[in-house]
Amino acid sequence: MNFKNTGILYIVPTPIGNLSDITYRALKILQEVDLIACENIKHTNILLKHFNIKNILISFNKFNEFQKSDRLIQELEKGKKIALVSSAGTPLINDPGYILIKKCHLFKIQIIPLPGACAAITALSASGVSTSSFCYEGFLPSKKKLRRSLLNSLKKEKRTIILYESKYRVIETVQDIINEIGANRHIVIAREITKKWEIIYGNKAHIIFNWIKEDQNRYNKGENVIIIDGYKESKNINLSDKIINTFTLLRKVLSLKQSVLITSKIHKTNKNDLYQYAIQHEEK
Ligand code: SAM
Repeated sequence: MNFKNTGILYIVPTPIGNLSDITYRALKILQEVDLIACENIKHTNILLKHFNIKNILISFNKFNEFQKSDRLIQELEKGKKIALVSSAGTPLINDPGYILIKKCHLFKIQIIPLPGACAAITALSASGVSTSSFCYEGFLPSKKKLRRSLLNSLKKEKRTIILYESKYRVIETVQDIINEIGANRHIVIAREITKKWEIIYGNKAHIIFNWIKEDQNRYNKGENVIIIDGYKESKNINLSDKIINTFTLLRKVLSLKQSVLITSKIHKTNKNDLYQYAIQHEEK
């Protein structure tokens, strides 16, 4: 692409909790640019102070993004170098910046994105749910009806689904997942990642619901990513009652692997069918 101007807009991710997650390159850029456009001046000031960086901050948030974008474009056209940061994680991922980036493309201004922290990807990487294909839905609508209908439309989504959720609605959202997608769908809650009380817990939706309810901190405090396992066409497994009885009895006293092995030997049945049966019927 031919850039018209010499100015550069850097997209700079910042930590999502643990300040050590800032990159060397991010610090260098935050030090070197002419100004930093940030979602929350107070928040970014704390970050800069921690790393002994002094720079000019201008506020850039969802309320002023439209008019501030024009001003930033003017500065970029003059050749200025600007860093865009949000309060946490990667700008534009449920954070301001989209209008500015669109305008940079329009005015042929160079954009340099830095890789860095993002709650969605960090949670996904540890979720134990398929990472080969996924969709990011961000925050679900706050209106109950809209939230439910969106979840319903995702019922047969085969890709892994990533949601952001606030502490105030996490319990309601899990309840809605149970109602619209199914109580047995495997979901993962990634709470407070990179922070002191980090926890990543996956189980059937109804078990997660009870787990959250067990401890007030889980629905009153903290930040959450919810990961929903994609829809799986359930294979019709034809196991006779005899096979199921043997397997169930063995499972009471033996590991899954041993139970599968012995049942398949006794009944000369396919091991994968037994594993599939276990996945469908056993609580994780
Ligand atoms: N731009 C950010 C990113 O790259 O992840 C997301 C900003 S969005 C306004 C804030 C939401 O991200 C939170 O409500 C929560 O769902 C998720 N989030 C951010 N930090 C988190 C963390 N440390 N642990 C779990 N979820 C987090």
